Amino acid sequence: MAIKTYKKGSKTRVATNFLVSEFCCKGNDCCVAAKIDTALVEVLQKIREHFGVPVTINSAYRCEKHNKAVGGAKNSYHTKGMAADIVATGVKPLEIARYAESIGVKGIGLYDDFVHVDTRENKSFWYSHKEEKRTTFFDENPIKKWQQAAIMDGFVLKFGADGIWGAECEALAKKALCQKEKVGYKNTHLVKIIQNAVGVTADGKFGKDTKNAVIKYQKSNALESDGIVGYNTWKKILGVAK
Ligand SMILES: [Zn+2]
Ligand SMILES: [Zn+2]
Repeated sequence: MAIKTYKKGSKTRVATNFLVSEFCCKGNDCCVAAKIDTALVEVLQKIREHFGVPVTINSAYRCEKHNKAVGGAKNSYHTKGMAADIVATGVKPLEIARYAESIGVKGIGLYDDFVHVDTRENKSFWYSHKEEKRTTFFDENPIKKWQQAAIMDGFVLKFGADGIWGAECEALAKKALCQKEKVGYKNTHLVKIIQNAVGVTADGKFGKDTKNAVIKYQKSNALESDGIVGYNTWKKILGVAK
């Protein structure tokens, strides 16, 4: 990593597809120079080449004044020339975030209409302006997510959330029945997993809509269509059914 300083607006080429001017502060009459981390340029060039489409920088370097004006965090990596908010023509932000993660970028913020990448040293991934923490932008092991949900709902798993289907999971799938007013009604985390699987809003409440969607799901998967998520339905949802 090397942070270089350039004249604001310079047309100097810093990579095959990027000019200094693209990284400059977007504020007016606030600064005359721009800081650009060479490592950041490398990341953007890799993204550009991976997707083979233009990468637009919405915001990279911000001087202190402009950073304040746009409500940026104090000490933001943008003020150090180490961050860029980008979009790529025809590429979903999630795909950009995943690619950035795959090439080892440590600072990634996924938003609905852009991705923030920065060259920090310690990993920090988040989603949206609410900055919800993420460990990865790839889909996590569904069994592990299910085990984590069960633990949060109060089930005790001797082996923890190891992501492996075994005897303990077999037992849990039989125990963790989810249906309205029955054993699983208070299992909000487990209910959210069901809701995501059957395509209804994941509010954690097993109401009428959820039950109807479960019945539909069971019918289309040749399962007993009783609207109760038990052993066989769990196995289907988790992708472990034979
Ligand atoms: Zn500025
Ligand atoms: Zn940013």
